Amino acid sequence: ESKAAGRNTHRFFDPGMQEALHARSSLEIDLRQGLANGELFAHYQAVVDPQGKVHGVEALARWNHPERGAISPVEFIPLAEQTGLILPLGEKILRAACEQLVRWAASEQTAHLSMAVNVSARQFRQLDFAAQVLQILRETGANPRRLRLELTESLLLGDIEGTVARMEELKREGVGFALDDFGTGYSSLAYLKRLPLDQLKIDRGFVRDVLTNPNDAAIVRTVLALADSLDLTVVAEGVETVEQLGFLCLHGCVQFQGYLFGRPGPVGGVEALLDGGA
Ligand code: C2E
Ligand code: MG
Ligand code: MG
Ligand code: MG
Repeated sequence: ESKAAGRNTHRFFDPGMQEALHARSSLEIDLRQGLANGELFAHYQAVVDPQGKVHGVEALARWNHPERGAISPVEFIPLAEQTGLILPLGEKILRAACEQLVRWAASEQTAHLSMAVNVSARQFRQLDFAAQVLQILRETGANPRRLRLELTESLLLGDIEGTVARMEELKREGVGFALDDFGTGYSSLAYLKRLPLDQLKIDRGFVRDVLTNPNDAAIVRTVLALADSLDLTVVAEGVETVEQLGFLCLHGCVQFQGYLFGRPGPVGGVEALLDGGA
């Protein structure tokens, strides 16, 4: 660097960077505190079939900040990952999701519902990840067969033997696995074949323009055909219009998640949809 920079060596960052760092560390403090104060909780979004019948839900973390109001997971999940706070947060969401499964198991109308929970790389790489999940299942009494963990492609890169072993440990107990945001990552087909997956979730980035962008349409059709030949179920994410739904149905998709059916919200919103379905 220049001599000018050398003269004030105590200043490592320009003011903009310092501000950004300060904002980040104060948000980190808030997140730590918010976790302890119960400001973080799960909302649920329905997964439905073409008739609108609810198959299950996905649990999505929410943060109600006392001053800033709702903060998006797009903002706080990466921060939680960087700081390690994803470990207590992930456990909290998983536990809440399992407790919800137990409440649903008590009634005939809701006992069939499945629960999807997002797992971040940092959680999954814990050596005792499978043991932690099994312990929460035992403690809550939730049925492992109703639980599905959503992994992302980036999380699966690297140690394939370890990944498969970890997945198998949970699969033996009945826990399912979905590959989330499918198509946005780097997994090769050979790799995909080795993973004991149950489901692919088509990223909403492909669903959004499926009617106007031929590339997106081709990708969606290809994922549906691929899933069919690998014997995986598919959920299309981010379905907002009946036209998108029509395209997806035409090409064999039978499970959907999106604002067309219901936004993420408190569990009562999903329960209200149960009577609406065929
Ligand atoms: P995701 O797992 O792919 O979740 C789906 C996202 O799409 C959610 O965003 C959901 O609100 C949104 N969505 C659903 N339907 C529609 C639609 O029709 N239109 C549009 N525009 N969006 C729709 P959300 O809740 O903001 O979460 C964002 C991401 O944050 C999630 O993406 C997931 O990767 C991560 N995340 C959320 N909760 C957790 C969690 O508990 N643990 C971990 N590790 N990650 C989480
Ligand atoms: Mg997900
Ligand atoms: Mg997704
Ligand atoms: Mg996504």
